[in-house]
Amino acid sequence: MGLVVQKYGGTSVGSIERIKAVADRVVKSRDGGDRIVVVVSAMAGETNRLFQLASELSEAPSARETDVLVATGEQVSAALLAIRLQSMGYPTVSFLAFQMNLTTDSNHGRARIKSVQCDRVMRSLNDGKIVVVAGYQGVNPDGDITTLGRGASDLTAVALAAALKADTCEIYTDVDGVYTADPNVCPKAKKLGRISYDEMLEMAGLGAKVLQTRSVELARRYNVPLVVRSSFGDAEGTWVGQEDRSMEDVLVSGVTLDQNQSKITVAGVEDRPGLAAKIFSPIADAGIVVDMIIQNASADGRTDMTFTIGREDLKRALEIVTRTAAEIGALNVRHNDQVAKVSVVGVGMRTHSGVASTMFQVLATERINIEMISTSEIKVSVVVNSKYGELAMRALHDAFINGDGGPNAAPRESV
Ligand code: ADP
Ligand code: ASP
Ligand code: MG
Repeated sequence: MGLVVQKYGGTSVGSIERIKAVADRVVKSRDGGDRIVVVVSAMAGETNRLFQLASELSEAPSARETDVLVATGEQVSAALLAIRLQSMGYPTVSFLAFQMNLTTDSNHGRARIKSVQCDRVMRSLNDGKIVVVAGYQGVNPDGDITTLGRGASDLTAVALAAALKADTCEIYTDVDGVYTADPNVCPKAKKLGRISYDEMLEMAGLGAKVLQTRSVELARRYNVPLVVRSSFGDAEGTWVGQEDRSMEDVLVSGVTLDQNQSKITVAGVEDRPGLAAKIFSPIADAGIVVDMIIQNASADGRTDMTFTIGREDLKRALEIVTRTAAEIGALNVRHNDQVAKVSVVGVGMRTHSGVASTMFQVLATERINIEMISTSEIKVSVVVNSKYGELAMRALHDAFINGDGGPNAAPRESV
C-alpha cells in the first residue's frame, strides 16, 4: 500500500462541481489501496479577491493581518473537500497548518518552512482516514498565521511528501504536464515525459509557474518524486526527478517568459570599491530579490549599474535606491517596468555550445532588441521590451524545439 500526496490547484477546486470531481479522483486512488494526503489551494481567484479586499481598506495593509485574511482561502477548500469525501462514505479529516505544527519563520507573505510534524497526519492515515490539508499556510513561533508565498500550496505538498516519506507527490493542475513552453502562450509547445529537478528549478524560477520554485528545490533536496498531471483528464503527466544521461542529448528542454519584471538603472556611479555593496545591501536587507545585474565599463571614473527585480518590489526598491544614490553622489536613477525576461533552459547546455549565439540570431531576425543578458550553466536569459515577450518566446521555441533539423530535432520523450 503506497502513500501518495496529491495537490490540487485553484482551478481544480474552483467550483462545487470541480470539488466533486476532485473527490471522485481521490476516492479512486483510495479504492486502489493507497493512503492519501490531499493538499488543496484556495478556489480559483479567491486569493486575489482577498488581497483586493484588503487593498480597498488600506493602502498598506499589515503583513500579519493580510496573512490572517489570505490564508482563509485554503481553509474553505480543505473543509469543502473533506465534507464531500465524508458524504461519499470515506472517513476524512482536514488539517490547517497549526494542527500539524507546520512552523515557519515570521516573514509574512513569503515565510519559509522550518519544520512540520506529521504524527497526527500519520495517526489519521493509520486509522484509515483520508487527510485533507490546507496549502499555502504556516504558523510562526508566536503562533501567528503566515503564508508561504504565491503558488506555495505546491510547497506544502512537497514538504509533507518529504516529511511523510511519501512514494510520490502528484501535482494536479489545469494543464496535463510540464511543456516546453507555457502552452497557453505557445500553442506549439510539447509536453515533456520527464524533466530533471535542475531544469525544472530553472524553468520555475524563470517564470514557468506550473510548479512553484521553492517546491522544486525542496523536492530535489529530499529526492521526492514529483509528477505534474491534469485534474481534468487521465493523460500521463510529466515526471520531475533526477537527471539521467539521455537528458543531455537534448539541448534546450524549455523556453520561459517572465512578464513580471522591472529594471532599475543607477547612472553615473563613481567607479570605486564598495559602491556596489552600498547600492545592493539595503535592497537585500529589505528582502527584495535582485536578479540580473549589469555594470557598464566605466568612462571618466563613473559607471552605470542596471539590475532587475520583480515588478511587485519596484516601488519599494526605487525608494531605497533613490536614497542610496543621493548618499553616494550618483547622477540619477531611471526605471522601466515594461520589461520581460525570456530564457532557454536545458541541461544539455553543459556539454554543447552555441545556444546563446543561436538565441541572439533568432531575436535579431525578429528585430527584437536585447536589453540585458545573463547565463548560467543550463540557461541563457535575455531582458526585452515586454511588448515583444510573447513573440520572442514563440520565435525561440520555433527555433530550438520545433526547429526542423535544428539543434533540438528530437525533443526528449515528448508526447
Ligand atoms: P494551479 O492553480 O493548479 O497551481 P498554476 O496556474 O499555478 O496552476 O500553474 C499552471 C499554469 O502554468 C498553466 O495554466 C500554464 O499556463 C502555466 N505554465 C507556464 N509555463 C508552463 C509550462 N512550461 N508547462 C506547463 N504549464 C506552464
Ligand atoms: N492560493 C495561493 C495563491 O493563489 C496558493 C496556491 O494557490 O498555491 O497564491
Ligand atoms: Mg500553482
